Amino acid sequence: MTKHEISDIKSLLASPKKIVIVTHKNPDGDAIGSSLALFHYLTKINHSVTVITPNDYPDFLKWVPGQDLILKFDSQNSQSLEALNNADIVFTLDFNAFHRAGDMENTLAENKSLKIMIDHHQQPDPYAKYTYSDVSMSSTCEMIYNFIEMLGDLDHLDSNMATAIYLGIMTDTGSFRFNSTTSRTHRVIADLIDKGAQNTFIHNQVYDTNSYNRLQLLGCALSNLKVLPEYRAAYITLTLKELQKFDYKKGDTEGFVNYALSLNNIVLAAIFIEDAQQNIVKISLRSKGDFSVNLMSRSHFEGGGHTNAAGGKSDLPIKETVEKFISILPQYKSALNEA
Ligand code: 5GP
Ligand code: MN
Repeated sequence: MTKHEISDIKSLLASPKKIVIVTHKNPDGDAIGSSLALFHYLTKINHSVTVITPNDYPDFLKWVPGQDLILKFDSQNSQSLEALNNADIVFTLDFNAFHRAGDMENTLAENKSLKIMIDHHQQPDPYAKYTYSDVSMSSTCEMIYNFIEMLGDLDHLDSNMATAIYLGIMTDTGSFRFNSTTSRTHRVIADLIDKGAQNTFIHNQVYDTNSYNRLQLLGCALSNLKVLPEYRAAYITLTLKELQKFDYKKGDTEGFVNYALSLNNIVLAAIFIEDAQQNIVKISLRSKGDFSVNLMSRSHFEGGGHTNAAGGKSDLPIKETVEKFISILPQYKSALNEA
């Protein structure tokens, strides 16, 4: 983002505005954290702010300060449309293409208000008047911190904002371990703790609130784990029947794919999950090193994301989806063995 753009945005925000903050479908910690951090900041500087998510999010995010005010586009549709129709500015956070907002896609495409994108995914669509896009960033939350800093307003940072930003950095960096975690990320985290983010509390809320059923489902996922040593790949499947057996709730499978990636000598991991609602198989891909699951997902699974973490889908049944995955591996064999 150029100095010029920042000064434009600063003038734009100098008088009270009606602002809507939107994030992607199936919001994760970074989506909710960045949206609520920006919500608290803009509210503090006298704007009227509404956060809208396309759909619901997991219970392990339902403690973040301000989350009770979030409108869900699917279940609170008329309120959401009213806010969007009246908005002067729409911020789109943690996504960079309207289709990532699910059923909000057309509404966003037709919306005439000024748009500002803050995002760290690859290949942003050119829909925003102001685009702050940086794929080297650990998280959209770290970018929100930078954004507030660029606007010269870090003195406004309070414990609600610090908590929300901490959440998204923590979840998007796998608790500060992925290689997007820089010394700067740690400096930001240190400042957030100084400003009132309670680190142990946040970790507990997200990682130590498992239900018994979720751990049993993890056991099922791990017993379904398959390894393909010649491709240094591993994958997990979860069928609808298995999900139902353990009374699956939104978010229960979060992080499961990382167990496949944690195997020694494995550089590519996948999880295939039957999604009855959408009648698709939802796919999560993870990798180590230079191997790009973003490219793999874009080429074969109608998705995308980052080099080391991407998502996608398949309209084939789960068995055929896995067969397709296995059938494309030979073309990546040398890349996987060099990664
Ligand atoms: P996850 O596997 O945890 O759902 O997503 C991993 C990363 O890929 C996230 O950064 C997410 O935003 C992105 N992602 C997930 N699903 C999709 C998808 O269907 N399309 C695109 N373009 N990105 C996705
Ligand atoms: Mn993110």
